[in-house]
Amino acid sequence: ASVGLPSEKESNARENNVAKIKVVVRKRPLNKKEIARKEEDIVTVCDNASLTVHETKLKVDLTAYMEKHEFCFDAVLDEHVTNDEVYRVTVEPIIPTIFQRTKATCFAYGQTGSGKTFTMQPLPIRAAEDLVRLLHHPTYRSQRFKLWLSFFEIYGGKLFDLLSDRKKLCMREDGRQQVCIVGLQEFEVSDVQIVKEYIERGNAARSTGSTGANEESSRSHAILQLAVKKHTEIKDSKRNYDGNEVKSGKVVGKISFIDLAGSERGADTTDNDRQTRIEGAEINKSLLALKECIRALDNDQIHIPFRGSKLTEVLRDSFVGNSRTVMISCISPNAGSCEHTLNTLRYADRVK
Ligand code: ADP
Ligand code: MG
Repeated sequence: ASVGLPSEKESNARENNVAKIKVVVRKRPLNKKEIARKEEDIVTVCDNASLTVHETKLKVDLTAYMEKHEFCFDAVLDEHVTNDEVYRVTVEPIIPTIFQRTKATCFAYGQTGSGKTFTMQPLPIRAAEDLVRLLHHPTYRSQRFKLWLSFFEIYGGKLFDLLSDRKKLCMREDGRQQVCIVGLQEFEVSDVQIVKEYIERGNAARSTGSTGANEESSRSHAILQLAVKKHTEIKDSKRNYDGNEVKSGKVVGKISFIDLAGSERGADTTDNDRQTRIEGAEINKSLLALKECIRALDNDQIHIPFRGSKLTEVLRDSFVGNSRTVMISCISPNAGSCEHTLNTLRYADRVK
């Protein structure tokens, strides 16, 4: 499916039709281990907007009974839905708005193993494909727009560049409340193959620590940004905080893809290991702050509580003005994940 190119009038109408906040739930299939353990699938997707979770509870006399929990969202995607369809439902409608000064964010939320990375990884590739096609379209060709990519991680409240040897980064705000991540490398992308390579490189550079890759990456938020910028010639006077040349020009619009830390990690605050506790507290803080910011955005509040965490501070310019937010809540279907699944669905419910 290709992104259509509407006239300006149509595109304004279309832009207004794209919901400011969209909450989507994606259920993954049972995996081999869960099937081998004969775990039950307790999540029933009823239709394309609702689902039921069947929770087994015990009475005081230890007899079991079933409690049903029903939820409705903007969209519910079952285990048969492909990544392509996920793209069509979540990101594709936003793409044309990026050329109209929109700052968009797409989050993947859920417990470790629920499919966040599986869901998130293909989205920027598809988005870049459509954005590049629009750059070359007669409507925009004369404007000399270019597409730029950056990829970084927030780990323990600190920022690391995933495309330049995990260089530590810091954040500043300019006078106009724009966020600037000092030293963050940006790469111009003109074809999709290179986007794939950057994503692979960035994912390989995510926190690994001593306990194994998946374990540690579940404690970090990975943020990939695609920005459409108006190309400007480099002038000597144009230097950013780093003293680096501002090569890329003025941002027209951008979209950020955020593979959030495992939601269950926010509960690590009673762990025996001090470092784990600190990271758990940081994750808890950032997921709460994120929820508050999205709710404030939904209520058109003037005051958005960005300051609550590093994650929300970094995304600050995506929460003001012309913004679009998509939250993809990933859930595991197995009975053993029931508590985490309910927590994820309740979080998504509060964001709506
Ligand atoms: P997370 O990033 O939330 O920890 P992953 O994306 O790594 O979870 O997914 C865990 C495992 O489940 C991976 O092996 C992944 O390939 C698989 N998986 C996740 N979602 C799906 C899906 N919708 N269909 C098939 N396999 C999936
Ligand atoms: Mg992951």
